[in-house]
Amino acid sequence: MTDATQIVLAKRPEGDVTADCFREETVALPALADGHLLVRQRFLSLDPYMRPRMTETRSYVPPFALGQPLTGGSVGEVVESKNPKFAKGDLVMGMLNWASHTVHDGKGLRKIDASVPLSAWLGVLGMPSFTAWYGMKHICKPKAGETAFVSAATGAVGQVAGQLAKLAGARVVGCAGDEDKCAWAVREAGYDACFNHRAERDYGAVLDKLCPQGIDADFENVGGKLFHAVFERMNNFGRIAFCGAISEYQDTRPMAGPPKMFAIVQKRLAIQGFIVSDHVALMPDFVTEVGGLLRSGKLKSRETVVDGLGRAPQAFMGLLKGENFGKLVVKIS
Ligand code: NDP
Repeated sequence: MTDATQIVLAKRPEGDVTADCFREETVALPALADGHLLVRQRFLSLDPYMRPRMTETRSYVPPFALGQPLTGGSVGEVVESKNPKFAKGDLVMGMLNWASHTVHDGKGLRKIDASVPLSAWLGVLGMPSFTAWYGMKHICKPKAGETAFVSAATGAVGQVAGQLAKLAGARVVGCAGDEDKCAWAVREAGYDACFNHRAERDYGAVLDKLCPQGIDADFENVGGKLFHAVFERMNNFGRIAFCGAISEYQDTRPMAGPPKMFAIVQKRLAIQGFIVSDHVALMPDFVTEVGGLLRSGKLKSRETVVDGLGRAPQAFMGLLKGENFGKLVVKIS
């Protein structure tokens, strides 16, 4: 019999997530039923979408259940299998518990190879990078002569989104939460400019300075007042890929839209929200293109690795305050 250490949702947050929303516990896992397998987890992905799932709201994905382990994208190793599709020793990725071990029925798990660092499957080769690729390629569609803007520019999604816009020939401007992140965005990821949104008080003025020709494509990760300033500076026929609104996930008040919404008509804007899991059929195209860019060294990536499952709650609270730099993963074993 195997014991698993796991982190459960102890309490739903009201406003900011606090440490008492989580509880670590050790449970004895049941013997494997036919069709099931036991995975020893290696890395867990921490992602902003987990915050809305902690609250009981209707969304595209059900809320986490109280008293049950939180779940997230993970990679791990099969240590025991009664599922004919998986053998002991296989490396797999999929949605698993925030835990040292998970018993799984195999549905939605896929085998991965160990030729790249395992954490990359959760970042630059995984869901966040696919999100950036889909939103930039299929919604923003930036081109030479245009200006693209990316908020949370050095995060898991933003860092790839910005580089793809640059490779498409656009002038690319971003914002991030400190000077080191902004310096990396320009020096390593090729942004033409990046401003520190925590230091700037007047988003409109800094956008006017850094995007003198206006904005043609916005990859929106943050929402809130920053988005309102970007929205006002969109050019005619601009495209907005509405990917997320992290600045509003902990807000207890309803989200406010930008004033002057009639600009959507006047400027013939295209605004599209999207959820990456709706587009899995395009995964092979993503792997071909982004895998090729990585192999040729044209795409840089950065991650923050936190050691130990027990540190996942603290790391997750930090993610919602900008403490991560690049893709945030937890090394479990
Ligand atoms: P990141 O790696 O970018 O981490 C989150 C970052 O957001 C923080 O590091 C911080 O960066 C920034 N941030 C946090 N709080 C605020 C705030 N109040 N105001 C401004 N910035 C803030 O996360 P991801 O790249 O994984 O996700 C980016 C966005 O994409 C999120 O909105 C997420 O929900 C969304 N998303 C959407 C998907 C979809 O299918 N639609 C799929 C995956 C992600 P900094 O220090 O720079 O401020």
